[in-house]
Amino acid sequence: MDGRLRITEIFHSLQGETRSVGRPATFVRLTGCPLRCQYCDTAYAFHGGEWQTLDAIMASVQAGGNHLVVVTGGEPLAQADVLPLLTRLCDDGYEVFLETSGALPVAAVDPRVVKVLDLKTPDSGESGRNLWENLPYLNAQDQIKLVICSRQDYDWAKEVLQRENLSQHCEVLFSPAQGEMPLRDLADWILADKLPVRLQIQLHKLIWGDVPGR
Ligand code: SF4
Repeated sequence: MDGRLRITEIFHSLQGETRSVGRPATFVRLTGCPLRCQYCDTAYAFHGGEWQTLDAIMASVQAGGNHLVVVTGGEPLAQADVLPLLTRLCDDGYEVFLETSGALPVAAVDPRVVKVLDLKTPDSGESGRNLWENLPYLNAQDQIKLVICSRQDYDWAKEVLQRENLSQHCEVLFSPAQGEMPLRDLADWILADKLPVRLQIQLHKLIWGDVPGR
């Protein structure tokens, strides 16, 4: 039987983050997340949504006509049938990115999928959920993202960067929490410490603001 997933929205936009930033993409946003980061900008995806078969989702992605597909949430790995969806997207030739909180196992994700894995900082309120066992499953194509809210968060991220040797796994992104972390301060700290990370801003919010479907 065809699997089903609860979907909040499928939309087309420019990818706002990661190393595919600025490229047209189709976004598949799955409903539900077991975390509650204090800065969450997709709380509208916690509940509701609509059950869709994998066939229906594939048809919507095909209609979008983009080569790049971003599977996001909420937390997409909270629904088991996301794994066959990811594989079907890869089989059909799409370039697939998965955005995940880092709180659920990524071991079973199709290796062709680019994983963008969060590590939650103390100020997120969810750092106790980081699944450190995920790190060995990352490879050079993947990315680790840390949303920084404060100097305390930055110091924690810097310590984790060195302790876990994060840059050896893949590229590391430091992203300022909107409205909490001044971009200039974060840039200055990264430069002062010569950290091997990429400063990332959310392009879609720069263009359209903080609105759903973008
Ligand atoms: S993991 Fe992502 S979707 Fe879930 S609460 Fe945190 S920011 Fe929001």
